[in-house]
Amino acid sequence: MYAGPGVKTSPDFPIPDKMKAWVLGNPGELKLTEKPVPVPKRAEVLVRIDAVAICATDLEIIDHGPPASIQGGMPFNKNFTPGHEYMGTVAALGPGVDEYRIGQRITVEIHAGCGQCKRCREGMYTSCHNYGLNYGDVDKGHRANGFTTDGGFCEYQVNNINTLVAIPDAMSDEEATLVVTAGTAMYGLTELGGLVAGESVVVTGPGPIGLLGVAVAKALGAQPVILTGTRDNRLKIGKELGADHVVNVRSEDAVAAVKRLNGGKGVDYVVECSGAPNAVNEAIRMVNRGGKVCLAAFPHAETPVDVAHIVRNNIYLYGIRGEGKSATHRAEAFMSQKRFDATKIHTHTFALDDLPTAIRYAKDRVDDAIKVVVKAKGVAAHRVAAE
Ligand SMILES: [Zn+2]
Ligand SMILES: [Zn+2]
Repeated sequence: MYAGPGVKTSPDFPIPDKMKAWVLGNPGELKLTEKPVPVPKRAEVLVRIDAVAICATDLEIIDHGPPASIQGGMPFNKNFTPGHEYMGTVAALGPGVDEYRIGQRITVEIHAGCGQCKRCREGMYTSCHNYGLNYGDVDKGHRANGFTTDGGFCEYQVNNINTLVAIPDAMSDEEATLVVTAGTAMYGLTELGGLVAGESVVVTGPGPIGLLGVAVAKALGAQPVILTGTRDNRLKIGKELGADHVVNVRSEDAVAAVKRLNGGKGVDYVVECSGAPNAVNEAIRMVNRGGKVCLAAFPHAETPVDVAHIVRNNIYLYGIRGEGKSATHRAEAFMSQKRFDATKIHTHTFALDDLPTAIRYAKDRVDDAIKVVVKAKGVAAHRVAAE
């Protein structure tokens, strides 16, 4: 019988001893196995995973390893379960937990910092100095499920209560998986960037973070919000999510277009989500003097950057990792108020058993896939297109 020291369960939520879990074998190889259902410790709950979205970073981890780090090394053949953008229902409470109740629907942030290093104490727990030190005799309490600890491509997972975000009944499972993506955009624009209403924003690259970056920027009162990219179907979704202007960089020079659309001047912020080779050099020419560039994409190669232009023009350049300072809670507040419709980027749902197919849809953008979600329950084991 499922139990642990001080763990509270409920007859309404019977918990099995074992669960289905996908694990990473060699690079690119996922296997469906059985694992024991994990047991929450102090300040943790057991989450029954109801839906999990596939992220470009999952594809990177499954094929290449980083940024996942398991027991201080590559994640292959370590019985590691990837997946990090999940939501679900609280199914058991660890000792002393009274902040959440069994049966409550929640979505999760990815990073639970150690809580004791300088950055965690500042609320920047996604930059925890004890990142990945959560095994053996170096257990510092850090967890980043799907990166340094087991993630969401399974039926149950334990989460620190600091990573939980309560969601309303009216929010669908699929929409709830997108809260953390919006939270990342929020963290980049407000906590790290300092954006205030009325400032101008360009988002380069209409992937999930870029598209929700547009939505969050508009909801925060940015004006204008300009989205650049190469795919017209995604630029169209960007308009629906609040972009005042969209620019297809195949037909127009992006820097010239931004200046034309912003009264001849550069904008206050660029959120770089494309990872394109010349993206940073273009971004620093899209901002005005003293403007800020948030780097949210992982380029695959090192690229030369015009540092003299950055210095001469007092431009701020900063990377963003994840969704610190509880920005996810504020993103959820926008979404539960329906300030934007994040479900516009959800395109497909598959059963958990069909994870390899779901991954193929996300990777190859089959059928114009953007966000692909898998669900353990309530979905027949075949493809279900989003409405
Ligand atoms: Zn992600
Ligand atoms: Zn820390």
